[in-house]
Amino acid sequence: MIIKTRLAPSPTWFVHIGSLRLALYDYLFAKKNNWIYALRVEDTDQTRSVEWTYENMVKVFEEVGIIPNEWPSPYKDLGNWPYIQSERLPLYRPFIDKMIEEGNAYYCFCTSERLTELRAEQESLKLPTKYDWLCRDLPLEDAKKRIEDWEKYVVRLKVPKWEKISFNDLVRWRVEFSSSEVDDQVLLKSDWFPTYHWAVVIDDYLMKVTHAFRWVEWLSSMPKQILVAKFLKIELPEYAHLPLIVDINRKKLSKRSWDVAVEEYLKKWYLKEALLNFILFLGWNPKTTEEIFSLEEMVERFDIKDVHKSDAVFDIEKLNWMNGQYIIKTPIDELFAKLEKYLSTYEVDFYNNVFIKHNDEYNKRILTELKTRMKKFDEYIELTTFIYNDSKINTSLLLNEKMWITTLELAKTTLIIALDIINSQEEYNAENIKNMFIEKIKEAGLKNWQVLWPVRVALSWELFSPWAFELIGILWPEKSSERIQKIIDEIEKI
Ligand code: GLU
Repeated sequence: MIIKTRLAPSPTWFVHIGSLRLALYDYLFAKKNNWIYALRVEDTDQTRSVEWTYENMVKVFEEVGIIPNEWPSPYKDLGNWPYIQSERLPLYRPFIDKMIEEGNAYYCFCTSERLTELRAEQESLKLPTKYDWLCRDLPLEDAKKRIEDWEKYVVRLKVPKWEKISFNDLVRWRVEFSSSEVDDQVLLKSDWFPTYHWAVVIDDYLMKVTHAFRWVEWLSSMPKQILVAKFLKIELPEYAHLPLIVDINRKKLSKRSWDVAVEEYLKKWYLKEALLNFILFLGWNPKTTEEIFSLEEMVERFDIKDVHKSDAVFDIEKLNWMNGQYIIKTPIDELFAKLEKYLSTYEVDFYNNVFIKHNDEYNKRILTELKTRMKKFDEYIELTTFIYNDSKINTSLLLNEKMWITTLELAKTTLIIALDIINSQEEYNAENIKNMFIEKIKEAGLKNWQVLWPVRVALSWELFSPWAFELIGILWPEKSSERIQKIIDEIEKI
């Protein structure tokens, strides 16, 4: 069988984190089955559709590398359909005519004023708000005459009175509804645009979609879609209704806050691999403790049947952790290029006044040492102040009873040992330097801490920083000896 998944976003806002999850699952499922993943834009609600969102879709999916095989021209001329619903209007009409002729849909002439009143009345009586079937049994001939007289109409689905409607969801298994709970849904609006419930069935059918994944909120629209398909004798795709995404307080992620726009995560320069890995886990897990997956591994391991029903928790700390893992894994040149791009775009002052004042080799050394501590690029400046900023000096930090450094005199002695070692080395070799330190510390009858603590303070002038050997590596060669010398001079002045 030819497998075809589809993403069907409505173009109303930036691409939502939840849409990226759908896109990823569509992509993985299609890739695994070696077939097609299509993107169709659902803009039947013209009042809510916004033009610029198309560009955002293209940008996001291209940037994260989840590119559909078919999606709307003019952005990519792939596939052979109009992939935007408003360009597909003539395709829907014959199906609606058939439903009307066969008595499965009907013209309704109720005005919006009447419907508003009806709704208010039902609400005041605490009844479910549904259409009251006023036009349901109008003879077709009469209805056609009214249309000839230019009366405004919509077309509604004629939902059978008592019927059990059921289907098998890929995630939720057997789901059942009773037709008595289902409203006579408007299928064709008075502006001749189809409603979502109508267009989605026709489009999935015409485009030969075999698998449709969507938010669980759409589950309640299933009976309407099942009925439409049944009346038209066409097949629906298999459905998977994915779990809600909630925040750590278990509240549904708000629809239009920045927290849910993929754009925001791209801007913050999260690595796309980390973002996708994080998104993968919003509803799926491998049933092992493994957490880091490449895209290829995702394709291999992902199965829509393993998606769980319970809410998926969006925990930003987890994303940050994953991003940190990917930062560690990224080859240094690639990471450096990304960092440069980030700084030159978002931290222009720092980039121009600090970063590029040092050569690439030095900056790369800093990044190499710090990448194990950096979860996101926006932490770089804070993590490196002690490296780029030479101005501070604080001898009092040298004294540390726990490290048995009780006098500045002792600190000075140990700093001189360190300075001699650094100055005696032609080249930086982490192993050699470490061995030299161990040897000289022993010779002087000191404890490791008594030397390494003052060295760390002298090199960082901070209470918390990387360890002494890492710092020597970063600041090698001039800056390490310069900083140690400076603090020795300071002690001598006291
Ligand atoms: N246009 C709907 C949305 O944006 C798609 C629902 C579906 O996939 O069937 O959520």
